[in-house]
Amino acid sequence: MNLCIDIDGTLTDPYYWLPRANKHFGTAVAPADVTSYAFDDVLGVPAGSYRWFYQLYGKLIHKEAEIRFGVREILQKLAEEHNIHYVTAREEIMREVTEEWLSEHDLPCDTLSLLGTPNKVWKAKQLESDFFIEDSYDNAIQLAQAGFQVLLIDCTYNRGELPENVLRVKNWHEISKLIDHQVEKAAGAAFTEEMLPA
Ligand SMILES: [Mg+2]
Repeated sequence: MNLCIDIDGTLTDPYYWLPRANKHFGTAVAPADVTSYAFDDVLGVPAGSYRWFYQLYGKLIHKEAEIRFGVREILQKLAEEHNIHYVTAREEIMREVTEEWLSEHDLPCDTLSLLGTPNKVWKAKQLESDFFIEDSYDNAIQLAQAGFQVLLIDCTYNRGELPENVLRVKNWHEISKLIDHQVEKAAGAAFTEEMLPA
């Protein structure tokens, strides 16, 4: 199968940028306060501030990013049978720091696509995605509307109604179980909540 995987918030801890942002802006925002991708609003800073912050510190925060629990072991195992495609909205200028981070964490990688845009549908088509792992609500909805199956890792900023072909998961352990389950049944079968581990 072709597994398409987002990076920020999906492979990485979703709030890894927060300590540095708090330090920079003199704010004290907690992970639970991050309820949207509108980071200026979340931080209570003037519009455009986060973009400037990202231009200054983007490479550094990507370099420092913490990896989610279990990701390395699970992806190494999945890579024995499946293709691992990373598909991120990060800009091409972040390729080097992204490749270094993947290799530093011993993550398998068949392809790495830095799209520079949140629209991932065309890339999912090109890669013939069997399913997409995401943390962005909008991306999940877009991909689902284009007919792709999505696993959405639950975060404070992605709550909301989901269509049938998007399943909310808590962590990579659940993702791993779902993929095993699907491989045993039939590739392409829809994920359902009943498949989640108890
Ligand atoms: Mg993401």
